[in-house]
Amino acid sequence: MIAHLFNAPIGDDETAVGVGTVGSSEAIMLAGLAFKRKWQNKMKAAGKPYDKPNIVTGANVQVCWEKFARYFEVELKEVKLREGYYVMDPEKAAEMVDENTICVAAILGSTLNGEFEDVKMLNDLLAAKNAETGWDTPIHVDAASGGFIAPFIYPELEWDFRLPLVKSINVSGHKYGLVYAGVGWVIWRSKEDLPDELIFHINYLGADQPTFTLNFSKGSSQIIAQYYQLIRLGFEGYKDVMQNCRDNATVLREGIEKMGYFDVVSKDSGVPLVAFSLKDTSKYTVFEVAESLRRFGWIVPAYTMPADAEHVAVMRVVIREDFSRSLAERLIADLGKTMADMDAHAGKKAGHDHPAKKSVHEIEKEVTTFWKRLVAKKKSSMVC
Ligand SMILES: *Cc1c(COP(=O)(O)O)cnc(C)c1O
Repeated sequence: MIAHLFNAPIGDDETAVGVGTVGSSEAIMLAGLAFKRKWQNKMKAAGKPYDKPNIVTGANVQVCWEKFARYFEVELKEVKLREGYYVMDPEKAAEMVDENTICVAAILGSTLNGEFEDVKMLNDLLAAKNAETGWDTPIHVDAASGGFIAPFIYPELEWDFRLPLVKSINVSGHKYGLVYAGVGWVIWRSKEDLPDELIFHINYLGADQPTFTLNFSKGSSQIIAQYYQLIRLGFEGYKDVMQNCRDNATVLREGIEKMGYFDVVSKDSGVPLVAFSLKDTSKYTVFEVAESLRRFGWIVPAYTMPADAEHVAVMRVVIREDFSRSLAERLIADLGKTMADMDAHAGKKAGHDHPAKKSVHEIEKEVTTFWKRLVAKKKSSMVC
């Protein structure tokens, strides 16, 4: 079902394989291992050295890629970021590729700002480079979050097995797959993309059982829950949930933008989340804002961006299925109150009168007006 969702070849060409894992981290270890082994076999057969494999990613990768690189002894070559551009630049990634590159890993839904990387452009650039050099550098897509979002609400976006160089994809069942923690998936485009020697066959459970996981025993409840959600909600159900998340993210984004204090660094499309930085960091930081917001019961992470954008610090709110519109409204109001307090406090600290940019009352009024307009818009589009 998941291979089909990701547009794996069907019909006579249909040989996609996959495995359930504890999460995307294990899925990525396995996918990385398959690329490494395939590359080694190819180099051995060509009589070339095979002791210096590398992998190309953006500096925005999730920590599991760093783990893979360190645990499995593959050099991690990271494309640096810059202020205002927080994902892997496909051109720079293609430039970094050499004969020892086992794959380029692209992210569908960056952990830092939710942005989808341009996998299609990467595919085209790499295809040209492969044609020129005679290499066959493949692509892995880390779709931990985006894999259960894009197929439903951005179906035209080409990021998956529709692109010929995409050989494997991972997704977290416990993120937008809507299952409780402990399930991920990795899918290979075809049997040929998963070296047979990595698969162990055991028969002591009564029949031939192929296994390719790091762990052996684990509970089946996650698999059952994933299966249940897929058949219970169906394509339309997942689509509704994802659309709703996106709508709530839009409400939150617009409310935060209207306050005037923040630059939003997440995109309209991508993972439904809002990441934002302070326009003016001279009086206080996002770390202090996050700390102050805790009074209202909100725990919003604040963090710095990776190399070379470390000087940018952001806060991030990820919208899940259970983050309702009224919660979004409340967060906007509470953030507004927090900012008014921060200003008043910063004014006092500086020893002169420094009035808040907007009063709490003003912000609340704006949020309510904005909200009412949005509901009216939604209603009129529903009538159509
Ligand atoms: C969450 C995430 C991971 C790790 O996934 P787990 O399921 O938590 O192991 C890897 N990559 C990206 C892009 C993620 O968002």
